[in-house]
Amino acid sequence: MGGATLLKETGPREVFCGLTSIVWLHRRMPDAFFLVVGSRTCAHLIQSAAGVMIFAEPRFGTAILEERDLAGLADAHEELDRVVKNLLARRPEIRTLFLVGSCPSEVIKIDLARAAERLNSQFNGKVTILNYSGSGIETTFTQGEDGALKALVPLMPKSEENQLLLAGTLANAVEDRLITIFQRLGIGKIQSFPPRQSTELPSIGPGTKVLLTQPYLTDTARELQNRGAEILKAPFPLGVQGSELWIKAATDSFGIDRSFVDSILEPLIIRARKALKPYIEQLSGKKLFLLPESQLEIPLARFLHVECGMELLEIGTPYLNREMMAQELDLLPESTRIVEGQHVEKQLDRVRAHQPDLVVCGMGLANPLEAEGISTKWSIEMVFSPIHGIDQASDLAELFSRPLHRSKLLNREPISIASN
Ligand code: SF4
Repeated sequence: MGGATLLKETGPREVFCGLTSIVWLHRRMPDAFFLVVGSRTCAHLIQSAAGVMIFAEPRFGTAILEERDLAGLADAHEELDRVVKNLLARRPEIRTLFLVGSCPSEVIKIDLARAAERLNSQFNGKVTILNYSGSGIETTFTQGEDGALKALVPLMPKSEENQLLLAGTLANAVEDRLITIFQRLGIGKIQSFPPRQSTELPSIGPGTKVLLTQPYLTDTARELQNRGAEILKAPFPLGVQGSELWIKAATDSFGIDRSFVDSILEPLIIRARKALKPYIEQLSGKKLFLLPESQLEIPLARFLHVECGMELLEIGTPYLNREMMAQELDLLPESTRIVEGQHVEKQLDRVRAHQPDLVVCGMGLANPLEAEGISTKWSIEMVFSPIHGIDQASDLAELFSRPLHRSKLLNREPISIASN
């Protein structure tokens, strides 16, 4: 492991809750439905994060817990059964229904695992009903995907076959491109998890080698391991270097000759490095501060430092799985400051003291920082943008050069905030 300084911080947090990941999961599996068992606040969060789908039947919804439920005056299980029955009668195309827990359902202790079991026996295999928590008390942002995938693992069929499994949601076009590369490199069977249809779950077993595409799948990885799969050790496929090492972790484990792999990857790497050049000119030497939100912070910081020359002031991450991040930490310079957890006020004080050129942060912090003259990038953009793989390195760099370019055009001076 590299010589990074690993610190922990606790205190007030400013991050999205795990419900947010419904926004990309419902697009990934169009035959699934996500029913949040929560309050009107939860409903508003999902609707504004996903953009309200006015003309289409959405594939997510909220079973609203009213005051009567919260006060324990109504039987929340009966209400939930009624909502689920109505939903499934109206939407017979739903094949998998996720009951998603929230802060309110947790506070009044609705047992969603029991509800899922009861409803499964009622629907008798016509629909699969699962549950996981997206509550802000238990989860941040991307951990919602970890919970949803973990719930699916027990349903994956068993297989002894030698195969590669890409775990974690990717943009479909990026995933197709990566699969094509692995096929050219000679890996015969490649599957994806989550699949594009919730009913077409990939098989799993001792012959399965798993490449994690996202760094926030701690629980899912553990469950896949429990099913006999091997989790390959690699940095994450962000940037040219990370993607190359990630691909080679798979080809090495399948015993594919390194010189053959190099001959396939070299033209891609040369092209990607050329495309990256103009962005390196804009980013090199600029000071970067990452506030915790998505768990993508460490791989992003590694790419922006090693390949784009940015100076790292601090990397915040909501949760640090040292084992999963070991290959990433090895690539970071000695004494990189990594802070796990959050005390938002103290972190903002450090941001102000260091005056970075760019802060990567949640949407709620971006506007106040911009008002103080500090350029920002929303972390949420990284989970919606196709940024994985060698080919996408320049697009990824462009996401960070854009706010710097805008700031230069505005040529703005920091605004002093009057206190009253
Ligand atoms: S789950 Fe909790 S944090 Fe998330 S929207 Fe609902 S109340 Fe807010």
